[in-house]
Amino acid sequence: MAADSYGQFNASLLYCNKCGQAMPVRQRLLLILPDGELYDYTCERCHSSVGSKTEKAGANQNIGIRRSG
Ligand SMILES: [Zn+2]
Repeated sequence: MAADSYGQFNASLLYCNKCGQAMPVRQRLLLILPDGELYDYTCERCHSSVGSKTEKAGANQNIGIRRSG
């Protein structure tokens, strides 16, 4: 197993409806939320949005689910 440093990934494939196949996507920071960052993924060929993901802020990743109320 060759474990190169997994600093960042930028070659992920996501299914694009317009292209009709899994396409390389570009990750773009869309919003900064109180508890993380919202990323948008756009197809590199047609530039349509193919998905989004919320990444929790690094330091508080394992804080668990906290419900107030
Ligand atoms: Zn596409």
